[in-house]
Amino acid sequence: MCGDLRSTDAGQTVTLMGWVNRRRDHGNLIFLDLRDRSGITQVVLDKEAAPLAHAKAEAARPEYVVAVTGRVRVRGAGLANPNMPTGEIEVVASDLLLLNDAKTPPFSPAEDAPVNEEVRLKYRYIDLRRTEMQHNFALRSRVAMAIRNYLVGQGFLEIETPFMTRSTPEGARDYLVPSRVHGGQFYALPQSPQIFKQILMVSGFDRYFQIARCFRDEDLRADRQPEFTQIDLEMSFPQMATIFATTEGFLRAAFNAAGITLAAEPFLQMTYDQAIHLFGIDKPDMRLPPMVNLSELLTPELRDKLKIEPTLPVLGFTIPGAGEMSGTQRKAFLSEVRAFLGDSGLDILDVNRLSTSQEFNTLAVTIHERLAEGLADFASETATSTHLTVVITPKPEARAKLVADRLLGRNYDPHWIYKRVGALRLELAKKFADKHKLFEQTNTAADFKFLCVTDFPMYEWNEEHKTWDAAHHPFTSPHEDDITSGKLTSDKGAVRALAYDIVLNGTELGSGSIRIHRKDVQQQIFRSLGMSDEEAKERFGFFLDALEYGTPPHGGIALGLDRIVMILAGATSLREVIAFPKTAKAIDLMVDAPTPVSEQQLRELSLKVVTRS
Ligand code: ASP
Repeated sequence: MCGDLRSTDAGQTVTLMGWVNRRRDHGNLIFLDLRDRSGITQVVLDKEAAPLAHAKAEAARPEYVVAVTGRVRVRGAGLANPNMPTGEIEVVASDLLLLNDAKTPPFSPAEDAPVNEEVRLKYRYIDLRRTEMQHNFALRSRVAMAIRNYLVGQGFLEIETPFMTRSTPEGARDYLVPSRVHGGQFYALPQSPQIFKQILMVSGFDRYFQIARCFRDEDLRADRQPEFTQIDLEMSFPQMATIFATTEGFLRAAFNAAGITLAAEPFLQMTYDQAIHLFGIDKPDMRLPPMVNLSELLTPELRDKLKIEPTLPVLGFTIPGAGEMSGTQRKAFLSEVRAFLGDSGLDILDVNRLSTSQEFNTLAVTIHERLAEGLADFASETATSTHLTVVITPKPEARAKLVADRLLGRNYDPHWIYKRVGALRLELAKKFADKHKLFEQTNTAADFKFLCVTDFPMYEWNEEHKTWDAAHHPFTSPHEDDITSGKLTSDKGAVRALAYDIVLNGTELGSGSIRIHRKDVQQQIFRSLGMSDEEAKERFGFFLDALEYGTPPHGGIALGLDRIVMILAGATSLREVIAFPKTAKAIDLMVDAPTPVSEQQLRELSLKVVTRS
């Protein structure tokens, strides 16, 4: 291969095949850099020694496909290229074959990627030739293989489930496939193998996994693809801990495949409630210190004097090492934060100003002390004076606003202050990233802060439809206590689910749950989601039937493979690790899909296209 030869190969006759990466013509000497997926080798064509080969090399252009036979020689003194693994040698060609020519490509794989991603996607075959992309897909293949090997070693069976099926609810819209044989009827592409993997547990397979393609017709955001790949697994008789240990095991194997050894300790765990109270979000970024509840420090008298609402929480956090600010910078910063908080009823407390006043100095000192606790884990090397202290307080009118919200029928979210301050924490962490450097990738285990978040709420309020939806999916088991206490009907917002997420550096890698394994409970959940028994039977009859034939307790999880590889590759978009991805508008620019189809095809499928007005 073009990346293999070293000085120890000197004197050997070799044949290399690949693409012309670059060509330099010095008259009697022509240099071709020959490239394949393993690397690049310099080939020399000497007009005197090999006139025929030299003549052909004159015709060669970038991206021509050639075969070269020649002798490996150590490059002359001072001519070695330390930036190339093959930089000590070159191949002196005796023969050259032009296997195929190439049009001048729209961009050169030898150079950095063009800025215009649409050009890259249209000419994906050329884009994929770039070293970076070849590296990404070699990595993806190694990672997938490491995960497979790990799971098979743990007794999991890889079992394929259908692509053409009926709709499985994961909260998105289905992609539909019209049936020719059954005119007017449709298959759905699976949003995940959820129901099938549960049925495999009913069938006694005990440990299933699949590196599965999932299809979801969602409004696309930057970081989504209509089809994506999950590492999907399910186990019978599991404890939640067994599922976490398995997930950690395959993640360790995946990271190992990328040369990163994760620490041996189990991932941290916290409940959804803790995550919201400490980080204001269900996918905490643990690379930064959590929020601190300062409510106690703000006594009723202090609140009164400082015009702070008497009952709602006061939250603070620190951005370590954000740098010192001048008076003007601080002023600008305060108004920036106020702009972020908008009319939410929250305000930023100017702790710096408090420390200059005799009356409030003690408060300012205590606030600083409280926020400094535990900070050493995040910012051992930075001086305290460079930490940025942020304290957010509710204004007196905050409560009035909430009352108004309630009157207007808007659902009251008891966590809103935590969420708002959590969002500010992330925003400021991004803003000061260059200063605190806590997001920097060093490609060591220290970059990766994993977390298992447990006890998610079972239901989610849908403001648009004014309904309670399943927060995960309707096969998730609620906490036993919340079933027996009758909360399923009396207080949906308070029902906890045996659902969990795996979070890495503030991104959700995947989620799963312990499932319902009893038909009566499953029916109860369908009902609580506003589904009549008839409708449940119509949509999930087969599944409810299956639950009646000896279903073991079971549970599982699914993690996004694309996202894991993206993180390991240090890439910023899923499209860098999916060979043939779609654009944000769900278009494949290379094959040009979707497209209209012929009348004939439509007729066979009993379909007619009507233009929507
Ligand atoms: N099917 C779920 C999903 O795709 C994962 C799971 O519950 O196992 O999110």
